[in-house]
Amino acid sequence: MTNSKRGPNFTAIDLGPLAQLDQYKYKHPALPRETDGKVFLNQLLGMTSSEISINKLPPRTSMPFYHTHRLNEEIYIFLKGVGEFQIDGKVLPIHEGTVVRVAQEGERCWRNTSDTDELYYVVVQACAGTYEGHTVEDGVGVQKRVSWVAKEPA
Ligand code: ZN
Repeated sequence: MTNSKRGPNFTAIDLGPLAQLDQYKYKHPALPRETDGKVFLNQLLGMTSSEISINKLPPRTSMPFYHTHRLNEEIYIFLKGVGEFQIDGKVLPIHEGTVVRVAQEGERCWRNTSDTDELYYVVVQACAGTYEGHTVEDGVGVQKRVSWVAKEPA
């Protein structure tokens, strides 16, 4: 399903185009059937710091339940489509470019309000209260001239 390339310091995968996200199925324990168009990246990439999923919701579809989290804050990044996002009873419009952060306790639900188009979004889950900043300070410049001549075929 996914083509992967690995090295000692990286994993790269090709999920395919968003329009073919349906090939990924996920069985949520609270739902009777498999969901099409949901893929978690943590295991595929061997991630150690967070969970990220790429998701699709069909036209005129709502998540069928509210949920909260015990430990993780979630960030929803909407890539394509239109809909509504609900947190603790407040409803916000969502569309391409909307980003919503929800604290663990927030009761959340979202829906695709389009009659025709899919809603595509990315969800990032990371343990609340663990980020220590130093985004730029964490980077370390490598004293090497940039070259695009590959050392060996990837
Ligand atoms: Zn969640």
